[in-house]
Parts: sequence; structure tokens; C-alpha cells
Amino acid sequence: MTTVIDGNAVAADVREDVSAVVDTLTDAGVTPRLATVLMNDKQASETYVSMKQRDCEEVGIAAEDVRLDPDAPAEELFDTVSDLNDRDDVHGILVQDPTPDHVPDERVLSAVSPAKDVDGFHPENVGRLVAGNPRFKPCTPHGVQKLLESEGIDPAGKEVVVVGRSKIVGKPLANLLLQKGEGGNATVTVCHSRTDDLAAHTRRADVVVAAVGVPGLVDGDMLTEGTTVIDVGINRVDADTEKGYRLVGDVDFESAKAKADAITPVPGGVGPMTRAMLLYNTVKAASEIEDVPVDL
Ligand code: NDP
Repeated sequence: MTTVIDGNAVAADVREDVSAVVDTLTDAGVTPRLATVLMNDKQASETYVSMKQRDCEEVGIAAEDVRLDPDAPAEELFDTVSDLNDRDDVHGILVQDPTPDHVPDERVLSAVSPAKDVDGFHPENVGRLVAGNPRFKPCTPHGVQKLLESEGIDPAGKEVVVVGRSKIVGKPLANLLLQKGEGGNATVTVCHSRTDDLAAHTRRADVVVAAVGVPGLVDGDMLTEGTTVIDVGINRVDADTEKGYRLVGDVDFESAKAKADAITPVPGGVGPMTRAMLLYNTVKAASEIEDVPVDL
């Protein structure tokens, strides 16, 4: 019997833990605060920001919603982030992706103070993660790690194949699973668009994580019986629905489920975890900046 891993339920547990930490911080006179900065007019980004704001409010984190004109000069964004870095009442800062073409991506990643970089993408934080001493684990990879933990799947000694090498999912996840210590110690293979014979890799995996952006790329034929399958992909495909599309993952769910021991659905798998781990990182930032010990 295949387990369909319920990301909403695991995310609810994380949110409960975060709420308890918010209480500890509040008792110490600290209101954790996340500032999101949006500098594009894409509907999807607007939706993501609104969800993050709502998530914060639900667990007692103060949320600040900063909007900038996508045509404004790049310096306006950097000045805004610099002001947020300087503010004592702001603990987490997130610049919503994508920023306009005239704003250099690398500079955006470096602009947020590493102590408030709740996405975990600042070069200093990337370095710490690779070195095995993460300050903030990036939200999606951390969410995947938590999902495995919730299912009692210890990656130690297992063959884990991560499909995708992006800097927001594939690479940090591979690093987390590789590290010594809890939630790590896996033997990790990272595949990408230049990998020869992807199926040869996925077939020998105990755990396959797909983070690609190609609907249904990984199917049951590419898996061995008993594999754990984590589908990070969120892809819109045309469908006869009110919105004109539906969301699917990078895994062909039905054929993969027939082989898998455990599998995440899309939606309702990794997505809710990414949102929950942002809250986790925000209270972590607040506790460290304010020097209030919390149970995380
Ligand atoms: P990127 O586009 O940044 O990276 C995709 C990766 O997949 C690249 O490394 C690319 O290889 C690789 N790839 C592309 N095609 C193939 C192929 N045919 N075979 C093997 N590898 C391939 O994507 P992201 O990592 O940002 O996102 C991946 C997916 O996850 C998307 O669907 C995205 O929407 C979703 N996502 C979901 C989140 C969640 O919360 N659930 C959060 C973030 C992303 P190469 O490097 O060679 O180009």
C-alpha cells in the first residue's frame, strides 16, 4: 500500500511549533516581523506574497508588504532593502522572485543582511550550508527534509537521486542530504538536463526528488518498487477548469504511485512545506537577532 504523504498535515505541525516559538518571543517582548518586497506585477508573484503575508498573520508573525514599481531604478530596491536591514523591528526580509531585468540578481541575493536572509540565498548563508553549518536552510529543501523525517525515512546510507540542480532547490537539497548529522548522511546523486540516461539513476534510488519544472518527467517506468518519491515540481497545464489550468508536478503521479512506497502529491505535498519553513526561518531569525532562546 503506497503512502501518499500529506504535506498539509506536516506543514500544520510545523506551523504549530512556530506558533509556540512566537509565544516565547512575545513573552520576551519581541514581535517577530517579516518584510516581503515585491518589484514585479506578475499575478503569480502577487499570489505568493499574499499567501506569505497571510501565513505570517495566522501564526502571529507581523508581516510587512513592501511594493515597488517594476520600472523604478534598481537603487530604489537596494535602498529599500538597506533600510529594512537597518530596522531593529524587522527580523526577516524576502525579495520576491523575479525582480526586473534591470536589477542584477546576484546583487539582490547579497543585499539582504545574512542574519535576516530567511530565504537562505545570501552567498554567506550558501557557504555556511555547504560547509555543514547552515544558518537558514532554504525553505523548499528544508521542507523536503522535514517531509522525509515525518515519514520516518532516514536518508542515512540511502541512495538519493535529486533531479534538478537549481540554486533554490536541487543544489541546497543535495547539500543538506549529504551533510553529516540528522536528516543527512545520504549518498546523493544530482541529475540535470545534461545527465545521460536519467532513468538509470532514478531506478537505483531509494529516494527520488524531482525538482525540474517538466510535467510528468519522472514516471513509474523510471522507478524501482519501494522507492520514496518527492515531487517538488509545480507546473501549470491547460485544463478544462475555471482557471483554465491545473497544477501538476514533475512526477507522473499515477504510474509512480504504483511503484512507490511513499509519494507526495501536487498540490498538497512540498508546496505547503515551503510556506511553513519560511515561518520557521523567520522566528529563527528573530530568536537569534534578539538573543531569545527558543525551542526549534
Ligand atoms: P530551475 O528551472 O531553476 O531548474 C530546473 C532544473 O531541472 C535544472 O537544473 C535543469 O537542468 C533540470 N532539468 C530540466 N530539464 C531536465 C530534464 N529533461 N532532465 C533532467 N533535468 C532537467 O527550476 P527550480 O529548481 O526553480 O524549480 C523546479 C520545479 O520546482 C518547478 O516546477 C518549480 O515551479 C517548482 N518549485 C516548487 C516549489 C515548491 O514549493 N513546491 C519551490 C520552488 C520551485 P540544467 O541545470 O542543466 O538546466
